[in-house]
Amino acid sequence: MDSFKRFFLTYRRILALAYRVNPSYLVLLTIISAFWGLTNLPILYINKILLDLVISSIGHPNWEVVARTIIWIAILRAGIEFARSFLSRYQNAVTNLLTSQISNKIEIMLGVKLNTLDIPTIESPVFQDKYKKVSRESNQRVWGMLSPLSDFPNAIFTIISGAIPLFTFNPLITLVIIAASLPEAFVSGRLAKLEYRDRDSLNKEYRIWGWISWLITDTRQIYENKLYDTANYVTAKLNALQEKVEEINRALRFRRVKWRTFTDVPLTLLVIGLNSYFFILALIGRITLGSAQMLYQAANTLTNGFNMVVQNIAVVYENYLFVQDFTWFMDLVPKLSSGTKILPDKLHTGIVFDHVFFKYPTSTDWVLKDVSLSINPTDNVAIVGENGAGKTTLLKLLLGLHSPQKGQILINGLPVHEYNLQKLWHKISVLQQDFHLFPLSARESIAFSDLSRVNNLSEVKQAAKLAEIDAYIETLPLKYETPLNKELEHGVDPSGGQKQRIGLARTMFRKSNIMILDEPTSNVDPKAEEEIFENVLKITRDQILMLVSHRFSTVRKADRILVLENGTVSESGSHEQLMKQKGTYSELFTLQAKSYQ
Ligand code: ADP
Repeated sequence: MDSFKRFFLTYRRILALAYRVNPSYLVLLTIISAFWGLTNLPILYINKILLDLVISSIGHPNWEVVARTIIWIAILRAGIEFARSFLSRYQNAVTNLLTSQISNKIEIMLGVKLNTLDIPTIESPVFQDKYKKVSRESNQRVWGMLSPLSDFPNAIFTIISGAIPLFTFNPLITLVIIAASLPEAFVSGRLAKLEYRDRDSLNKEYRIWGWISWLITDTRQIYENKLYDTANYVTAKLNALQEKVEEINRALRFRRVKWRTFTDVPLTLLVIGLNSYFFILALIGRITLGSAQMLYQAANTLTNGFNMVVQNIAVVYENYLFVQDFTWFMDLVPKLSSGTKILPDKLHTGIVFDHVFFKYPTSTDWVLKDVSLSINPTDNVAIVGENGAGKTTLLKLLLGLHSPQKGQILINGLPVHEYNLQKLWHKISVLQQDFHLFPLSARESIAFSDLSRVNNLSEVKQAAKLAEIDAYIETLPLKYETPLNKELEHGVDPSGGQKQRIGLARTMFRKSNIMILDEPTSNVDPKAEEEIFENVLKITRDQILMLVSHRFSTVRKADRILVLENGTVSESGSHEQLMKQKGTYSELFTLQAKSYQ
């Protein structure tokens, strides 16, 4: 009962979705379908009348009168058939339009929803498997659950059309036909369940398939693929996956053929029985030949109608199992809570990490161990440490993207998660290590951090100047309107260093009170780096700057340097203080300085 309720609620939800997308199409489809089903009945009767008229009028002296009637009946029948084929074409067109509108809507819904979820949820492998399935299947499955809807009225009226003549002749025949259709109904439900289970077992394979296929078909990887000659190795892996999936597909298809053949047996026996029965009745004169023909056709219409209902229920059910994944996704609530507090424009107490311990859901050990630090509202702090020391993780925690298991992180005296995170992020300017440039113009790419000012070209230019990328943009074919992707007309692909400067310009464009830069200038040439960093220091004079960098020439300019080792802050102080300590910082600094001599 519970599962019925769930099914009903899901169906209602999907229907409401289609109704929101295009109410008139949905209503139109239902009406057309009902009308189509209903036209079966007059056709049955017209055929009967035609046949009986011809048989009773054979050898009639006034055959011209009968012939005229025959012509009128033929015109009527052709008229109905004409209307039916017009409606069918019209229904196809409307169905296609509605399908694509629903699929567009779902694409947007998935994107918007994904953006509301928290990072730990999104990064979990279980979520990834399921989400890939949702994004792969949802479009088609939601429509799959709805499309029978337009067939149901047709099926119901087809059943009524077939049932009326049969029921008036002998109600028992109707019952026999229902009984013969039952095995089909049972088998269809069972097959839908098995198919869902089998496809579900392939989630991981489909996910890896997606990766590999992207790796070998996306042109951005072409350099690596060519130079390392990876195509053969990777395609062999893809081939193995494809074979595994195909094997399950094959089993699934043949299982369907086998069971359908089995359920066709009672229906075939029924057709033989009814065919013989009606025509023998006509032979012995109990009914007219027209009636025999009509009853036989009515039985066919009725079985077709039942078949349609059973098939459609099976389609709805099969798609429902997948649509449940879609509704699961749409109903996910972020695990990391976001509060209501708003960060003021001016900070009073800065940032505090208070005995913070953190590990990722998949890590075996602490990634951050007992990290305590405090940063004043106008401090600039550089964080150094080996790869994997936990620098990026520390920044992610500060942004509230993950939550520490022990200890707390305060911004301006309040724990991060008491803030409305969306609004908090508006006040923090972040440049990540692996940030993406969308295929947008240079102006939009820079204004990406505050799109409300996307048309303010002079401020965009100002940010570009600070990041020393203005001169480069001015040389581009369309200057600030040049798309930063050479696959687009007049587009260009900036170099690694130029890309980083655009990222920096973007970060500096946002009016924030905390700036976080994670390896912002690793690809920028040292001279430009120094100048850009001077600019960064200038504009962050009244705010917090947190900088992760391996370039000690930049790092040394920070007010304070934190050394992170194995998830713990091992040293903290200015360049001069740390050099005097002769610890890890001084060792690394000297090593780098030597290599430049
Ligand atoms: P750093 O920035 O100092 O190079 P990170 O903070 O990126 O180091 O990583 C610290 C450790 O956490 C590494 O061992 C890394 O493998 C692990 N790690 C980073 N991100 C994740 C993640 N999303 N899930 C699991 N482990 C992660």
